[in-house]
Amino acid sequence: MAAKFVIPKSLSILGKNIPVKRGNLKDAHGQFDRTDFEITLDTKCPAHLIEETLMHEAMHAVLWISGVSQLLREDLEEAICFATEGLTNSFKVRK
Ligand SMILES: [Zn+2]
Repeated sequence: MAAKFVIPKSLSILGKNIPVKRGNLKDAHGQFDRTDFEITLDTKCPAHLIEETLMHEAMHAVLWISGVSQLLREDLEEAICFATEGLTNSFKVRK
C-alpha cells in the first residue's frame, strides 16, 4: 500500500520559502500567488490529485522566480506545468 502523502507546510524553490496552504479556490485545484509567493491547494481538490496539483503549482513558482515566465505565453507556461505533473511519481522511493 502506498504511503499517505503529507502536504508540506512549505517548499524551498530557488532559494525562496514558498508556504503551501489550503484554501477555497473557485476554478482551480491549486494556485501559485505571484505577489505573496505562496501556493494554495483547494480544499475541494480530490486527494488523488493533491500531489500532481502541488507539482504543477511548484513549477509555476519555478518559472516565475527564475524569470522564465516572462518569456512564455500563458498557454505555453500552462503546458509546461501540466507536463511537469508527469514527474509526480518519479521521485518516490520504491521499496
Ligand atoms: Zn497552471
